[in-house]
Amino acid sequence: MKHFLNCKECADLLLDYLEGNLEPQTHDKLEKHFAGCSPCLSFLKSYQTCSQMAQQLRDQQVQIPSALEDRLKSFLKEEVAKD
Ligand SMILES: [Zn+2]
Repeated sequence: MKHFLNCKECADLLLDYLEGNLEPQTHDKLEKHFAGCSPCLSFLKSYQTCSQMAQQLRDQQVQIPSALEDRLKSFLKEEVAKD
């Protein structure tokens, strides 16, 4: 068994890593790789951010808070009035 994973292998394992499906050993290897590989780390972070946002949107069922909606509407009205 190899001691180090390459970037391609990390990308392939990323989803399982985030879902906690990996063997503790593999999980550990992946974290070690992320610690030493900034491209993979930033990929991981952007992936996490995306999936968190998607999760939040699902939870909220894409409802805009009413206060924000009001502000958005009045903003749009002002923008329309400018023309
Ligand atoms: Zn890498």
